[in-house]
Amino acid sequence: MGLFSSSKKKEFCTVCKKGIARKSNPKKDWNVKGPLCANCYVDLMKVNFDKKKDSDNKCVLCGKEPGTFNLWKPKKEWDLKGWLCESCFNEREKADNELKKNCSVCNAKLGFFVRHAKKEWDVTGYLCKNCWNIQESKTIPKE
Ligand SMILES: [Zn+2]
Ligand SMILES: [Zn+2]
Ligand SMILES: [Zn+2]
Repeated sequence: MGLFSSSKKKEFCTVCKKGIARKSNPKKDWNVKGPLCANCYVDLMKVNFDKKKDSDNKCVLCGKEPGTFNLWKPKKEWDLKGWLCESCFNEREKADNELKKNCSVCNAKLGFFVRHAKKEWDVTGYLCKNCWNIQESKTIPKE
């Protein structure tokens, strides 16, 4: 007697409204408040996992999804957001090395001094020391 009366109040799943045998709590970033049944928990887990996969696992250039561990972070001067697959990274790097050979303003061969043009200059690629200084002197510092 009284042995079974202590059993918990029955709870209902926030999503499907069914009575829950084994309660699961949603994760913080799921935007669900309240308990879930095992089925809905698994469903939401899948949905949220896919969402995450979409943004983190894709190459920003070709859209391939080689998996998180096969993606490369682009170099800072490439001005790209996100991740690159290996082949896009290599291509980008090759193109970048070509760009680095000559000044993109005066076309002089670049050797020791190679600087990437600043974003705010209307110039892409790399500049020789002279051109870089000229651009730099044209840039009015913001006050
Ligand atoms: Zn449910
Ligand atoms: Zn790619
Ligand atoms: Zn130059």
